[in-house]
Amino acid sequence: MLELFFFILGTFFGSFSNVVIRRLPYGNSIVRPASHCPKCLIPIKWIDNLPVISFLFLGGKCRNCKTKISFEYPVVELLAGLLFLFGYLNFGIQCNLIIFLILSVVLIIISFIDMHLRIIPDILTISLLIFGLASSFFNPVVSFSFLNSLKGTLFGGVFLYLVAFLGSKIYRKEVMGGGDVKLLAAGGSFLGLSNIFLALLIACFIGGLTGLFLILIGKKKKSDFIPFGPFIAISIVMVFFIRPQNVFLLASHP
Ligand SMILES: [Zn+2]
Repeated sequence: MLELFFFILGTFFGSFSNVVIRRLPYGNSIVRPASHCPKCLIPIKWIDNLPVISFLFLGGKCRNCKTKISFEYPVVELLAGLLFLFGYLNFGIQCNLIIFLILSVVLIIISFIDMHLRIIPDILTISLLIFGLASSFFNPVVSFSFLNSLKGTLFGGVFLYLVAFLGSKIYRKEVMGGGDVKLLAAGGSFLGLSNIFLALLIACFIGGLTGLFLILIGKKKKSDFIPFGPFIAISIVMVFFIRPQNVFLLASHP
């Protein structure tokens, strides 16, 4: 029963994420005005604003003006629902479940803003970083160590800033944006030193593969820009989820 509760709770957080994704980058209030159709501006009734279900029930169209609603809304809601469900199944009711859920919601918001506008708002990465450091005492992924959390942050921030700086000098173009570096610094505060390094490798790997795939199927050209933020976000969630230091512990103590 709790599985269903966490899934539904997640879809409501997904619904909230949709609002933040479409308002925060423009400096608009997240609470006012109430949700409305972007075309006919008619406020959306609560019955038409239920995560996933309303989209299906309305056939993906505004009840009033029949304008198509972006498919992205239910996708974000479903994604958040699944992360909440799997988070609960993986962690149980623990401190790291709460850390994981907050981390997941903010990373969903960051990923979609980056895909829409190719920016990552500082307010999101800096808040995440502060929360990561503050929650380190309850976070088994950094072995409850503030120092490890801080090391991860510094690796993500300082070291990668240098990589980005050197890369831009060598290739004479931006290889990694400032937003990406801050996002990795924030990720480092949740993962610690060795895990953020692993997350960066995974991000480069899946980012590279996706880029290659998009070029091969002709969706993108070699010179096109593919935002890196979503890949960093996926890797951070993945590494936090599998907690690799426990796997290493099992391997060294058979
Ligand atoms: Zn409408």
